[in-house]
Amino acid sequence: LEAKGEFSHKTLAMGVMRPRRGEPPLSVLTQDGVTVGDAEALIASTSYSGFPVITSPESQRLVGFVLRRDLVISIENARKRQEGVGSASKIFFTEYTPPPLPDSSAPLKLRGIMDLSPFTVTDLTAMDIVVDIFRKLGLRQCLVTHNGRLLGIITKKDILKHMAQMADQDPDSILFN
Ligand code: ADP
Repeated sequence: LEAKGEFSHKTLAMGVMRPRRGEPPLSVLTQDGVTVGDAEALIASTSYSGFPVITSPESQRLVGFVLRRDLVISIENARKRQEGVGSASKIFFTEYTPPPLPDSSAPLKLRGIMDLSPFTVTDLTAMDIVVDIFRKLGLRQCLVTHNGRLLGIITKKDILKHMAQMADQDPDSILFN
């Protein structure tokens, strides 16, 4: 199937990404503001395959991307094996971790499980280009930014669904299988 033909009317990344207007915001982690308890609550309340990591809610700058399964495993392991790690432990995706205050929970350093350069496109990128990149790089997801701020995410399935809607076809028959 020709990607170009599918998107001849120039769908843009912002037209395919999630969240859509009116939907709840992206589920993200901040690089140094989340506790183990927060992360576990996020894991329990969502089923997303991964979470973008941002500098802070104010700046919305993208720092990296963490896969759900890596986060789950790391927290489980740390709770079992790392002295002083509990619900109140702060998770750090930063390079530098401040020394913990006396009597406070041990920090959990998770920079190692973060993809430091997740693929990103801007909201105005044409979808035929995005599809091309997904195919050539074998991406599972791609993040969408506007002026450096994280806006949304596009997964392979989002693209397949969108193409199927446009072509009115079975998603599995298109492009990626
Ligand atoms: P898939 O699209 O393969 O089912 P996910 O389960 O990760 O993969 O995503 C399900 C839907 O939620 C997709 O439409 C995707 O764009 C969106 N999504 C993925 N990750 C997040 C996230 N962290 N926050 C909000 N929405 C997300």
